[in-house]
Amino acid sequence: MSQMVVMDQPAGPYDPTVPGLSSDPELQHCIQCGNCSGICPWGYAMEFPPSRMIAALRAGIYTNVTTTESVWMCIACSACTASCPRLIPITENLMTRTKEELILAGKVPAELQSALEFSHRYGNPLGESPRKRVDWAEKAGLGIPVLGRENTEVDVLWFVGDYPSYHTNVIPTALAFAKLLKMLKINYGILGNLEHSDGDSQRLAGEHGLFEMLAERNAKAFRKFTFKEIITTDPHAFNAFKNAYPQIGISYPARHYTQFLAEKLEQLKPFLTKEIKAKVTFHDPCYLGRVNNIFDEPRQLIQAVPGVELVEMPHNRNNSLCCGGGGGGMWLDGYQWEKTHARTSEWRVREAVNVGADILVVACPYEKPRFEDAIKVIKKAEGLKVMDISELLTAAMK
Ligand code: SF4
Ligand code: SF4
Repeated sequence: MSQMVVMDQPAGPYDPTVPGLSSDPELQHCIQCGNCSGICPWGYAMEFPPSRMIAALRAGIYTNVTTTESVWMCIACSACTASCPRLIPITENLMTRTKEELILAGKVPAELQSALEFSHRYGNPLGESPRKRVDWAEKAGLGIPVLGRENTEVDVLWFVGDYPSYHTNVIPTALAFAKLLKMLKINYGILGNLEHSDGDSQRLAGEHGLFEMLAERNAKAFRKFTFKEIITTDPHAFNAFKNAYPQIGISYPARHYTQFLAEKLEQLKPFLTKEIKAKVTFHDPCYLGRVNNIFDEPRQLIQAVPGVELVEMPHNRNNSLCCGGGGGGMWLDGYQWEKTHARTSEWRVREAVNVGADILVVACPYEKPRFEDAIKVIKKAEGLKVMDISELLTAAMK
């Protein structure tokens, strides 16, 4: 039997009116296999899913793409990029750049526009006062050190992030991590009011200028203090510091908190004495797992909790299903609901229910409020609890 050989398609007549995209040599490697559009959670609802966008570029009819605004269905989950046999960086090079084009043309869904404006004006997408960024820490009574007040030199700069600083449902995850840092006697500090949004989701939503502005403000704060590394609560902040900030000349060693805690697991284990008899499942955050390859550390931490049984959902690790919040998705919920009457967070909660989980464990600040909302509308999900890994660990301590 003869073997099938997949050959490169010749590059078509790329649309000269889209300079950033038409000159991108990587997009020309596309073989139109359709993997990207097939795996995209919103591919079925996009008039132009990724492979069709590339086809339109080749046909010189790319303006058809930008008149539909279907790119705003993209939640930058990177599933398309991970599935591409030609290793084309679809999320960054095609989707994000197309969003940039639409922003330049002023075609931005209203709720995203607000989040971008808030980020510009207040340094966070929630529109909260920068002066209140440190309120959660001051009220906690845990002696959380704010850099510049007690000290300027620490081992760890903990970059708390927007949602753990401001969002009522997410603040408990920050408090849990603060307790773990205290228990481990870590010499750390937070930036307090000097912290700004890391800007990664704004960048993925097509606002590169805003991303650079936020990054510069954070870099200015970093330069005031001495520290060995940055630990982030948010995988998006981790991705920003690891991959995006260095591209604009801002380089600091950074890790996600699950990497940091997994390294200290032997120190943590003696504290994990309370049994939690529960079936738990872990939701891999896109920008921790698929984009940055951190799959094992969160699972090591979960399995260190006595009594838990870890079960996997059908979409796990590299094939995880996005919660819908990253890359601007958090600020496009209304727009996407209008188009589909569906939410990826609800699909995810259904998966957790179907594997019989008692606890859906998360490691990204966007996920907790999204899944908690989804639980309210999914049948048989009433008993499902959502916990951040830090919360699960502190719940296992007496
Ligand atoms: S997965 Fe890659 S090669 Fe296949 S259609 Fe999409 S961009 Fe082209
Ligand atoms: S990044 Fe995710 S949502 Fe966006 S096109 Fe790719 S698969 Fe679809």
